[in-house]
Amino acid sequence: MTSSNRSISITAPSISELRALFNGRVIAPDDARYEQARTVFYGGIDRHPAAIVRVADAGDVSRLVSLARETGTELAIRSGGHSSVGFSTTEGGIVLDLSNMKDLQIDVEGQTAWAETGLTAGEFTSAVGVHGLAIGFGDTGSVGIGGLTLGGGVGYLVRKYGLTIDDLLAAEVVTADGQLLHVDNNSHPDLFWAIRGGGGNFGVVTRFQFRLHKVDSVVGGMLILPATADVIARFMAEAEAAPDELSTIANVMGAPPMPFLPAEVHGKLIVFAMLVYAGDVESGERALAPFRAIATPLADMMKPMSYPEIYQPEEGEYHPVAAGRTMFVDSIDRSVAETILNHLRSSTASMAVAQLRVLGGAMARVPVDATAFAHRRSKIMVNLAALYDKPETKGTHEAWVSNFESAIRQSYHGVYVNFLGNEGEARIRAAYPGSTWDRLVSVKQRYDPTNLFRLNQNVPPKS
Ligand SMILES: Cc1cc2nc3c(=O)[nH]c(=O)nc-3n(C[C@H](O)[C@H](O)[C@H](O)COP(=O)(O)OP(=O)(O)OC[C@H]3O[C@@H](n4cnc5c(N)ncnc54)[C@H](O)[C@@H]3O)c2cc1C
Repeated sequence: MTSSNRSISITAPSISELRALFNGRVIAPDDARYEQARTVFYGGIDRHPAAIVRVADAGDVSRLVSLARETGTELAIRSGGHSSVGFSTTEGGIVLDLSNMKDLQIDVEGQTAWAETGLTAGEFTSAVGVHGLAIGFGDTGSVGIGGLTLGGGVGYLVRKYGLTIDDLLAAEVVTADGQLLHVDNNSHPDLFWAIRGGGGNFGVVTRFQFRLHKVDSVVGGMLILPATADVIARFMAEAEAAPDELSTIANVMGAPPMPFLPAEVHGKLIVFAMLVYAGDVESGERALAPFRAIATPLADMMKPMSYPEIYQPEEGEYHPVAAGRTMFVDSIDRSVAETILNHLRSSTASMAVAQLRVLGGAMARVPVDATAFAHRRSKIMVNLAALYDKPETKGTHEAWVSNFESAIRQSYHGVYVNFLGNEGEARIRAAYPGSTWDRLVSVKQRYDPTNLFRLNQNVPPKS
């Protein structure tokens, strides 16, 4: 099944040998595009790959995987480049960069699509949105569908349609032996289970097949409220009580100097929320009314709109350096909200944020063991972050975020792998608790026994 038939040597190949091997572009350190090509989304990650291979097709992927295996070269896989840990780059190894693989085949009648993994969430959403169709990815358009989907995918349709993986019907995966496998519920079901939450541990996904939903228009957008403990607690209570059609993301943070916010609010703590009601306008307005009534909004941009409009334009050269923590909690009442506000006030970062996402709905109706994403029953996801400019202040911000996490942690210690930092093996195990870990190890053993795919939240083949 592999389309690789060109020969490769077992010593590390020269750049000209690499160029002869691939249909896609090979970018080497002496290339004018190298600096830009080695840059990933997060700042403070400064690695120098020996080459970046912008693969053109599954054959290129297969050849590069085989080459890395046979030469012992470290291999980093990149879709959208948004890994907070820098997993999609390497010092001295090769980056397999999927960003030129953006083919998208939409079956409008059948409501499915095959998407190459160089597409971003925003690109996919815009293209299927033309047909009034959608699935949920995350909150940011530039995130790659590769990494996001493989970790689970929690976004604006999570309560209505579940995680991104809940709409995954099939995938094509190049495994460590260089073979291209079609993977679904009937073909390699163990691998299909593992790639729905288990991240990049098992191979390189070249294409996903997704089920699409009719989402002609939604009601929602940005709502900004003053951040007090009462406002936060009420927001969370309303979000939990809301129908499944409504998914919310509330960022408690200092107000950026946005032109539509009064100058006296800039820097004060606000609830910067994004809400999406996936249903008819009248019911949507009814569902949003309680949020508008929590306090006099500082800005209210919620309106009927097409779903792709939820992805705002992004700054091209934005590369934040971040200290972050992720967790699940059961409840955010007034007292937890007070703790959140106190910690945010004490941060010296250029931006400190507590992001609160109420889960439940369709995501929670899938059995816990149906996929490798094991946190179906979690009620609220919390992501804490300090974004800072000076690398030498890293220690301060890491200590802050760690104290913050301890202060609001509740009984459940599970974590969502896609927001996990470089936090050690115990935390990776927290992403894959109990039997999920054992199953992942056995799938890893079968498809990647030498741990070729190790630049990720790694599940080693033997534990
Ligand atoms: C600004 C921002 C907003 C975010 N918002 C959300 C959100 O709302 N919801 C959410 O669920 N997550 C969100 N995330 C987290 C995001 O899902 C992860 O960072 C994800 O890994 C990024 O995917 P990527 O393809 O862009 O990253 P990359 O850095 O390209 O990839 C990360 C890792 O994923 C694996 N990988 C990627 N593509 C493939 C592939 N085709 N085959 C095999 N392995 C692959 C590799 O191990 C790779 O190292 C956000 C991240 C950022 C930075």
